[in-house]
Amino acid sequence: MSASTGIALLGATGSIGETAQRVVARHPDRFRFVALTANGNRDGLQAAADRWAPGFVGLVEPGTAPLPAGWHAGAAALVDAAQHPEAAVVLNAVVGAAGLEATLAGVRAGKRVALANKESLVVGGPLVQAAVRAPGGGAVIPVDSEHSALLQCLAGRIGGDGPGLLPVAGVRRMVVTASGGPFRTWEPARIAAATRADALNHPTWSMGRKITVDSASLANKALEVIEAHVLFGIPYDRIEVVVHPQSIVHSMVEFEDGSVIAQLGVPSMELPVLYALTYPDRLADSGVPTFDPVAASPLTFEPVRHDAFPTLGLGISAGRRGGAAPAVFNAANEAAVARFLAGDLAFGGIPAAIEAALAHHGDRPGDDLASLLAADAAARALVSEFR
Ligand code: NAD
Ligand code: MG
Repeated sequence: MSASTGIALLGATGSIGETAQRVVARHPDRFRFVALTANGNRDGLQAAADRWAPGFVGLVEPGTAPLPAGWHAGAAALVDAAQHPEAAVVLNAVVGAAGLEATLAGVRAGKRVALANKESLVVGGPLVQAAVRAPGGGAVIPVDSEHSALLQCLAGRIGGDGPGLLPVAGVRRMVVTASGGPFRTWEPARIAAATRADALNHPTWSMGRKITVDSASLANKALEVIEAHVLFGIPYDRIEVVVHPQSIVHSMVEFEDGSVIAQLGVPSMELPVLYALTYPDRLADSGVPTFDPVAASPLTFEPVRHDAFPTLGLGISAGRRGGAAPAVFNAANEAAVARFLAGDLAFGGIPAAIEAALAHHGDRPGDDLASLLAADAAARALVSEFR
């Protein structure tokens, strides 16, 4: 038996998946990949499999070409990888609601789920909470940089198993920072007509396409507010979003006595990925460039322009509404972003389509996985027809 921690990496070929491979490559004595999955990128998955020789390889959409011997196909491969007996950690770096079932499977199998796939918590927050609290349930440790920052600000107040997805004592407010994206200073009419190239031109982060578009519309920040609510059990009226264009302050926690603790650093996902693997410990690492406060200055903060970014308010009100509304918000956003990226919907059509989906399906029940998946499918169908 190796002493290293076995990791199942879901979404190995993506931006976070590649970051995770770089992090693990620096710590071969501490971590190894025991399972790898990808959606359709066969060559990328093959390269990762050749590099790490995991026991399990899963390609969700294999197409028609025959699979290499021993590979697994279909969405079930995500769940199987998340339950892999040699994995202590499931690093869920899948994009979209497609990651939810694997998150649930990993938690139910008692794993630490290092969660980049924020959509899991948006779509199925109460289900994931119940799985964490159930006997033998595992933990969810956030990879998202803002939530990693919040967790680091709360260090010592949360047990080593990670957030119990219950209210954390002594917290008055959480302040989630947002870069503001490429349209931070644009007028609303110009944003509504923005092109794909405009939206993919993120000022501070290099990421997958869907989250990059979400960062331009601030849908990403809506997903993150819901994520913070689910992870830390904090009511929506005590979560604030502030625009911070430099992306140096990754988020802040204000305590009951008025003290505010922030986590700072150069924008890089290497630290949040590593911290989700080592929490509550830290591991010496060279992934983040040295922070120079003078070079990083000035650090500035601005209010959100809700008139220019209606998607943020739509998402937060869906979170407050509960039931299937957050799942509808998420699915409508995924479908609208896919249409925008395909050149089939204007940027301004994204909030419009989400609003229509919430108006039609926001009151659906969301008590179990089946009803959430039905709401997700209904929202996608509506957005596919949206004009
Ligand atoms: P990406 O598009 O670069 O990669 C997504 C990965 O998931 C790929 O490996 C792809 O093959 C796989 N995948 C896509 N659709 C799938 C499906 N239906 N079933 C199974 N696998 C599928 O995305 P990313 O930027 O790495 O983001 C991944 C997740 O991490 C997202 O939830 C995103 O919001 C979150 N996140 C990303 C960053 C970042 O810096 N990229 C930061 C914070 C949070
Ligand atoms: Mg984030």
